[in-house]
Amino acid sequence: MASEKEAALAAVPPGAPTIFDKIINKEIPANVVYEDEKVLAFRDIAPQAPTHILIIPKVKDGLTGLSKAEERNIEILGHLLYSAKLVAKQEGLEDGFRVVINDGPQGCQSVYHIHVHLLGGCQMNWPPG
Ligand code: 5GP
Repeated sequence: MASEKEAALAAVPPGAPTIFDKIINKEIPANVVYEDEKVLAFRDIAPQAPTHILIIPKVKDGLTGLSKAEERNIEILGHLLYSAKLVAKQEGLEDGFRVVINDGPQGCQSVYHIHVHLLGGCQMNWPPG
């Protein structure tokens, strides 16, 4: 499997439909753990921790990544983070967890539809690579 850096560099151009659109439209399956009218949360296909969940907005609204955020996106950005907290509780991550948003090639972003990684279930290290 390609490294995170290789996947980021090979990513489709920002703005193009992504694999997450197919998950939202139920064209491909995903292990959904939480859903409301605005966000969808599902298990990462290549987990980097015992619990690794992606939380995405159902409507991208230009949010290919955090660096593209505009004032109109403030509500959904808060909604994504609050959803991460709800899912962490649902997953029983009482001892802590990490949320990550990768942005751009140097941030190792590979899917250009903003998403929050929720990672937990083991002791994390700091700093991340
Ligand atoms: P990024 O590297 O952009 O921050 O994160 C993208 C994440 O999406 C990666 O952790 C990758 O494993 C995950 N991913 C890519 N394709 C799929 C898929 O088809 N299904 C699921 N569940 N996760 C995926």
